[in-house]
This record gives sequence, C-alpha cells and structure tokens, in this order.
Amino acid sequence: MASYYTKAIALGRPKKYEDGPLNTPVSFNSTYHAGGTIGYARYGNTACSDFEEVVGSLENGKTLAFSSGMSAFQAIINILPVGSTVISSNQGYAGVNATLHKMHLENKINFIPVNIENTAEVLENLVGASLLWVETPTNPMLKTADSERLIDRAKAEGVIVGFDNTFATPLTQKPLDLGADISLNSATKYFAGHSDVLAGTVSTNNKDLYEKIEFNRKINGTILQPFEAFLALRGIRTFPLRFERAQDNARFISEKLKSYDYIKKVNYPGYGAVLSFEINGTPEDAEKICNSSRLISNATSLGGVESLWERRRRWELESKTVPESLIRLSVGCECKFDLWSDIKYSIDSILFEK
Ligand SMILES: *Cc1c(COP(=O)(O)O)cnc(C)c1O
Repeated sequence: MASYYTKAIALGRPKKYEDGPLNTPVSFNSTYHAGGTIGYARYGNTACSDFEEVVGSLENGKTLAFSSGMSAFQAIINILPVGSTVISSNQGYAGVNATLHKMHLENKINFIPVNIENTAEVLENLVGASLLWVETPTNPMLKTADSERLIDRAKAEGVIVGFDNTFATPLTQKPLDLGADISLNSATKYFAGHSDVLAGTVSTNNKDLYEKIEFNRKINGTILQPFEAFLALRGIRTFPLRFERAQDNARFISEKLKSYDYIKKVNYPGYGAVLSFEINGTPEDAEKICNSSRLISNATSLGGVESLWERRRRWELESKTVPESLIRLSVGCECKFDLWSDIKYSIDSILFEK
C-alpha cells in the first residue's frame, strides 16, 4: 500500500493520453449531455470526484465532498429519524454544538452533551442512542477520547459512530480502521491548507449510510463546487508535508510555552498542530496579546500554512466552559524560531511588569 505522501500526489488525476492535462480540468457546467454518469451539477463534478478519491484513499473509505465541513455535518444529522438521541461532546466545534442544541430545543433530536474524555460518562448514555459523535482532540481544549473503547462499546449497542477528524487528520487517526462508521473532515483546514476555500468531507465504508448521505447532498445541493474542488485538490497534494511540518512546530512551541512565565496552562495532546493556552492575565490581556503579534494573525480557523491565533471566547457560540483568557493557536509552517520569538514578544509586551 502506497504511503500517504504518494497517495496525496498521485491519485485524483485524469487518465493519461497525449497532450492530456496532468491536473483535473475544472468544468463549469450545470448540466451534461444525457446518458452519462453525472447528469446534473447537483449530483457530481469531476474535480469533486477526484478530490474524493484522494481523501478516500487517506481515510480508507468512500468519500463524499461537501461545500463546507458544516454542510457535511448537516447531511449526517439530517438522515437520523426525528427524535433520535445524539451523544456528543459538551465542548467541541461550536457550529456542531449549536446545531445539536438548536435541534434539541426544536424537539427534532434528543441531544445528550457529555465530557468526551470521561469514557464512563459516555458509555452510561449509550443505550438507545442513534449516534455517538466523537470529536477528538476537541476544539479548543484539545481533550482526547478513548476512541477504541468508545467505538467497541457503541458498535456493540448498535449506535452509529461518527468522528470529527479535522484536528487529528487521517495522518494521526484513522477512525474507519478503528471501526467507526463515519469520519468527517473540515477540508477547509489541513486538507486544503491555504485559508482560501471552504470544503468538507464525509468518509464511510457503510453502503447504506453512504447512499443516504449522498442522497441528502443531492437534494440539498451541498456538493463541493468545481472551482472549490480544484483548490482543495491542489491543496491536498502537499497536505502530508504541511501537516508534519506544522506538527513539529507545534511540539516545539508547546514545550516552550510550558516552561514560560505568564502561562497558566498549555493544552496539547502531543500530536496535531493546534494548541491552546491560558495566560496569567485578563481576557483583555489575551485580546491584546493576539493583536500584538507581527507574524501570527489574530483570526479564527486553523490548518493553513500561516499561523493564526485568537481568544476563543470572543465568539458568542463558544462553550461557556472554555476559559475566558484561553488563546487557541493554529501553528503553521513558518520557521519555528520565528514563531516563538513572535509569541514571546507578544506575551512579554502585554504581561511584563503586570
Ligand atoms: C472548522 C471545523 C468544522 C466546520 O467546518 P467548515 O468547513 O468551517 O464548515 C467542523 N469541525 C471542526 C473540528 C472544525 O475545526
């Protein structure tokens, strides 16, 4: 089996023929001549299929690409019968949490929020549930779940298990190999990698789930569009290289932060390239620090080549359990020494002499 470097580069390309293009031609068409496999643009486009081929090979499943990570999540949640019980983290991606809370209030689902790190608490709620949604590591606290145990027990109870694999990526975690039914990625992040496109993917080896989720995508028109698919495909060619580089940088930065003054706590699971930390200071200090950096931008999102940080609680939707002065840092691919001097400079300029 080829390595992920090779898969990311070699797959998802047009057939070879003389003067044929190396890259997938982007075709802007809402409709196609009859008799073929696509038919209409809400059902498919070649750049999207090529991108799906690459992601599927990394996740070891069959992949459907969407217009965003959130539309991918909506397609999953939409196939559950009304009244289904969904277990998910009480912290985690804010858009996912907001969706589950809203659907609960509207009596569409029964949402049970749990501490995903507390395996016993999750297992206690499993009986009778329809979906266990596991985000590990969690955003932005970087808590990790006991994935194998959760999957084994959930499958024994007949519960569908879905993973949000955005932070770990298939380079450090392969949910489908562990027995999960679904692995979701916000391809906006590491797969595309340049903060210039929204995209999402759902991978699965369950034919029934695949068909239901694909049908949902067809009727809602949430398929990844040709130009966006082209950008995502170009980005994913270098995903393994970027991710490993960013991960090395993140390990270095987390060690530096752990032994630095003014830092109360560093959250980093030892893999991936996102970390978060609490400062010994006020939320206003945290905002000022994020605005003081010259290299790192104060902006939301993650997974791009450029490092970003922000105070998470500036967002209304963020869980109230996240500390007010917590800064989330998405470590990019710059030189780690430059990154550390920027971080040190920003922290010192606000907290020195306080
Ligand atoms: C960004 C993100 C999403 C949502 O993806 P979009 O592409 O922004 O819609 C879902 N889960 C996690 C963990 C994310 O970081």
